[in-house]
Amino acid sequence: MSQTQVGQTSGTTTFPLTFSLTPSTESRTAVEREEILADPGFGKKFTDHMVAIDWTINKGWHNARVMPYGPLQLDPASSVLHYGQEIFEGLKAYRHSDGSIWTFRPEKNAERLQRSGRRLALPELSVADFIESIRQIIAVDGDWVPSAPETSLYLRPFMIANESFLGVRAAHQVGYYVIASPAGAYFADGVAPIKIWLSTEYSRAGRGGTGAAKCGGNYAASLLPQMQAYDNGCAQVLFLDGETSSRVDELGGMNVFFVHGTDRLVTPRLTGSILEGVTRDSILQLARDRGLTVEERDVTLGEWQDGVASGAITEVFACGTAAVVTPISQLKGPNLSIGNPDAPAGKITMALRQELTDIQYGRLPDRHGWLTRLDTPAAQS
Ligand SMILES: *Cc1c(COP(=O)(O)O)cnc(C)c1O
Repeated sequence: MSQTQVGQTSGTTTFPLTFSLTPSTESRTAVEREEILADPGFGKKFTDHMVAIDWTINKGWHNARVMPYGPLQLDPASSVLHYGQEIFEGLKAYRHSDGSIWTFRPEKNAERLQRSGRRLALPELSVADFIESIRQIIAVDGDWVPSAPETSLYLRPFMIANESFLGVRAAHQVGYYVIASPAGAYFADGVAPIKIWLSTEYSRAGRGGTGAAKCGGNYAASLLPQMQAYDNGCAQVLFLDGETSSRVDELGGMNVFFVHGTDRLVTPRLTGSILEGVTRDSILQLARDRGLTVEERDVTLGEWQDGVASGAITEVFACGTAAVVTPISQLKGPNLSIGNPDAPAGKITMALRQELTDIQYGRLPDRHGWLTRLDTPAAQS
């Protein structure tokens, strides 16, 4: 068997991995599962199985398996626990009205995991193996994909350095896992605009940092400003760029968009400190399809302030896989308030949200080929 291995970040197996299956002996009954699916919340309940794949610097990826969901055994010296060498992804499985199960642009998540991996000196998993790992979890736990409106099975692939070694270098042993968690409708009582808090004290990313990588460390650094947001009655934090503190970066888990007038959509360009969201990219495409003028460029806090004051900026929203599209009514900060907290969700915001979810749930034709069917053998997708 030939394997290519060039330095730390390779170890890519040339042949697709095959997965073994150890069924859980403690799977929930259909009744127990339906009880959970009736009110799953977000990220609290998990399905009966998980995927695991091992990687070592000598063997590359191997031992791909589907196994009962349960605690990982980690040596206390595992490098992820000390140096935070970790990356993750987030995507959803959607049930269509005919019962079939689909996911949205998984190759984008696979490629982003590879990019995040390069930045965090973690090995690359092939796009095919990533997508197969998603298929494998659906093959055993497909019944966990809920069918109520706007619900889904949230899929969380992640990769950790699990070598027992306290020396500071890229780990020679890594684990990749996929867990799955049923998710209720994010806005159970209808889409409600949120207030967001401007962090003037903290940045989430700096030049040359890990802002474009989906890694746990970025989130760890965002938790304190997130607490300050809550303390100020806001749901999320807005981060400015780390160099000049004048440009709008993102929310730390969602990308930001501005509607100008009725026909222009503006979002911060990808500077290396912004996470390249799959939702962001899809919204840009849907906006172009509608004939909106789309601009990816610098957006300053001043432009936001002046634009809302003059009426040039008519809508602001955030987007990401979990909440899809979230209208923003107000930006608050120390000595700052932009927008009206009682403003309703914008028309273009809601139209884009509706169109995106209609495609994801199979209610509109998949004109861009964004959907991958998960509950069939790969050749039929
Ligand atoms: C995951 C994430 C997003 C949203 O990305 P999607 O692919 O749209 O879910 C935005 N910002 C950060 C920092 C993220 O981690």
